[in-house]
Amino acid sequence: MSDARARALRERAERALPGGVNSPVRAFRAVQGTPPAISRGEGAFLFDEDGNRFIDYVLAYGPHILGHNPPEVVAALRTQLERGVAFGSTVALEVELAERIVDAVPSIEMVRFVNSGTEATMSALRVARAATRRDLIVKFAGAYHGHADALLADAGSGVATLSIPGSEGVPARATADTVVLPYNDIAALTELFELRGGEVAAVIVEPVAGNMGCVPPVPGFLQRMRDLTQRYGTILVFDEVMTGFRVAYGGAQELYGVRPDVTCLGKVIGGGIPVGAYGGGRALMELVAPSGPVYQAGTLAGSPLAMAAGCAVLDALHDGAAYERLETLGSRLERGLAAAADDAGVDCAINRVGSMLTPFLGVSEVIDFESARAASTATFATLHSAWLGRGILWPPSQFETGFISTAHAEADIDRTVTCFLDVLSSQTDLPGSG
Ligand SMILES: *Cc1c(COP(=O)(O)O)cnc(C)c1O
Repeated sequence: MSDARARALRERAERALPGGVNSPVRAFRAVQGTPPAISRGEGAFLFDEDGNRFIDYVLAYGPHILGHNPPEVVAALRTQLERGVAFGSTVALEVELAERIVDAVPSIEMVRFVNSGTEATMSALRVARAATRRDLIVKFAGAYHGHADALLADAGSGVATLSIPGSEGVPARATADTVVLPYNDIAALTELFELRGGEVAAVIVEPVAGNMGCVPPVPGFLQRMRDLTQRYGTILVFDEVMTGFRVAYGGAQELYGVRPDVTCLGKVIGGGIPVGAYGGGRALMELVAPSGPVYQAGTLAGSPLAMAAGCAVLDALHDGAAYERLETLGSRLERGLAAAADDAGVDCAINRVGSMLTPFLGVSEVIDFESARAASTATFATLHSAWLGRGILWPPSQFETGFISTAHAEADIDRTVTCFLDVLSSQTDLPGSG
């Protein structure tokens, strides 16, 4: 592959942007690789500055469930672009997207749009603390809820990738009211509530963890969390920034039949334009200003471009056919990778929920952050670079989730599997190998 233009661009990027990027994981440090410089996207593919084509499983880290630049989203954006991009006043599209979300997500009666997932979780905690008049927050190790101070304790995604415990610059006081428990550990959750349940304002959880790699909830975990939070008057916050409209039209709460009090959204609902949202029952959401005393605002919140893209994406997903297609493709990839690992005699836990998937190399089961961290990140880096060399772009960390879009084809999946088998067959230093 030629990379002359990309290399020149990266050199300029490294001078002008910290680490050459605007979000840490994009720098490919965890796989000691060189990130491609992208010039355009189309369906399941990205094209770099030198014209090389990649089958894309990053999909902008989640938003592009229909692939890159789907015609219906492009048309909606073009129409809005000609009318104007920001007015600072009510527009029909923000009401329309809100109504679609209320119809789709079982626990949401009202919604507030913000500009990112980070803002959504930050605001959800503020509402929970106001509603309960308590301070304590419970989160899970390896979960990522954006980069707000209080939630940067034992976080996943780029934080896990870079192996930093939290972040410099976060005062100890900011995380002093954050308790971190192991994901999927029903006993630890129960014990915490028995000891301190009356102090807990909110439990915030990724109902399918996606930022330590993909880790589904074990049976009973979410239901037990719902029962305990209800009993102790704690607000249950589902961070569905990744899973919302991704694992099912109504999100993970529809898939697992558990209703949180507050839901955070982002990614898919903006079609790739910056967006976030939080929503819940009417009484809770009416605590938010100007209805209530919880202040939260945004100059560009409810951006007409994001609302237009979001409505177009949700309309394309609404009849459910997309989720059947994603399940077909997801299960093909899962079965293909599992058979390849088997053929190569390599242990590999493959975790998948719908179109979210992570192969954890060198381990047979991953149920929490500790078992995720037992995976071989060195082998993952080898795999990542072999895939990249053959035009397959996977998220650049063992602790990220790969995504499939409706634009992917069976042939793309099969090529990905073939290359996976080639790489594993040449690995000799893995548990289970040989
Ligand atoms: C991506 C993500 C966030 C943060 O969203 P940003 O838009 O990057 O701020 C929060 N929670 C989860 C579960 C996410 O996957």
